[in-house]
Amino acid sequence: MTETWANWSGAVTAEPRRIERPTSEEDLQEAVRRAVREGIDVRVVGSGHSFAPIVATRGVIISLDDLQGLVSTDPASNEATLWAGTKLYRATHELWEAGLGLENQGDIDMQSVAGAFSTGTHGTGPAFGNIPSKITGMRLVTAAGDLLDTRDAHPDVLRAARVSLGMLGVVSQVTIACLPRYALHERRWQTTAAEAMERLAANVAANEHYEFFWYPLADMAEHKSLNTTPEVPVDEEPPPLEGPGERTGWSHRIYPSAREQKFNEMEYSLPAEAGPECFALVRDLMRTQFPKWSWPVEYRTVAADDAMLSPAYGRATVTISVHQDARRPHEPYFQAVEAIFNRYAGRPHWGKVHWQTRDGLRAAYPEFEAFSELRRSLDPSGRFLSPYLRDLFD
Ligand SMILES: Cc1cc2nc3c(=O)[nH]c(=O)nc-3n(C[C@H](O)[C@H](O)[C@H](O)COP(=O)(O)OP(=O)(O)OC[C@H]3O[C@@H](n4cnc5c(N)ncnc54)[C@H](O)[C@@H]3O)c2cc1C
Repeated sequence: MTETWANWSGAVTAEPRRIERPTSEEDLQEAVRRAVREGIDVRVVGSGHSFAPIVATRGVIISLDDLQGLVSTDPASNEATLWAGTKLYRATHELWEAGLGLENQGDIDMQSVAGAFSTGTHGTGPAFGNIPSKITGMRLVTAAGDLLDTRDAHPDVLRAARVSLGMLGVVSQVTIACLPRYALHERRWQTTAAEAMERLAANVAANEHYEFFWYPLADMAEHKSLNTTPEVPVDEEPPPLEGPGERTGWSHRIYPSAREQKFNEMEYSLPAEAGPECFALVRDLMRTQFPKWSWPVEYRTVAADDAMLSPAYGRATVTISVHQDARRPHEPYFQAVEAIFNRYAGRPHWGKVHWQTRDGLRAAYPEFEAFSELRRSLDPSGRFLSPYLRDLFD
């Protein structure tokens, strides 16, 4: 008997042999051992918010929805250990109750902690690394069904595992470096696209977190800045900003936005210095070849890090992402934009749509082979792969 699984946008579906929901680490180990005995592939699902087919399998899908919550905190280092399946909205709330906050967050908080870091999920701000860059430890269930604590393993295992798409094993618990809880002041404003480009460097430099969305039909930019404030807000959900305006609140209530309409997305990480030129080319492409396109383009910044498969590996980064209504085709437009990104040594977001081959990825990631070797040593029979991942990594 097969079950049906679909990702958030509905574009990726799968018929796994079964979906398992372990309720303890021992259960999880047993679920992995069972699959290995049967010789079927094992993929883990977080919240299914990836657009790329990285969860889909005909083997077993393991969901960690029943392994959630804050395990412990270390007040001396501000580190927190969480069950890997904890949804970000729950994680950040429980961290807040413990006096902590994540250093940065992305556009939404519906992902699981492990799902988010496994693909390199990020927010914006040139001084802030992506979520995986804050991971200081994790416990992994390996293909042998053993528990591997990265503190006891070779340091390269943690560097590899931070962004590893579930290919090194199933993460059961994760330790993440946090900040004492803090408040953010948010401001949103609009300008023409031309003005956004003129003031881009100044806006990035003047704010801790800055991004803009470009709306092609109107050729307008909607800007968003977030800066820490010493103000101590009340413990309430601040009213959402629907357009230009300002608000203040605890960080975990300010970072995430609602995403009501389903879409598909492609995003590339580019060397920071190439960001403005690359965006200008995407804008020209849309205005000349896709003049009716209405979905926005998002522009963000991310600090460099050293995780082997991190899209921000070794370089200050700009990310540019394009979107399309989930009910409509995205391929012609996304592929035309990807051709621009390829000219600038772009690296695809692992959780989003792309058409890279193994050769392209090998060229983009200096430690691609080192990662692949480590993957093979931890999972020689490739149980944590799927046909899609085998093509890229085996
Ligand atoms: C509306 C929307 C907004 C988004 N906004 C942003 C954004 O602002 N910034 C950004 O960078 N990305 C963003 N994304 C992309 C998203 O953050 C990533 O695709 C993320 O990986 C999804 O997390 P998830 O929990 O749904 O994981 P899934 O999509 O379910 O899984 C992602 C990967 O993690 C692996 N995995 C999950 N759990 C485990 C585990 N316990 N152990 C080992 N591997 C595991 C899976 O096998 C898979 O390879 C957005 C996506 C959507 C749909």
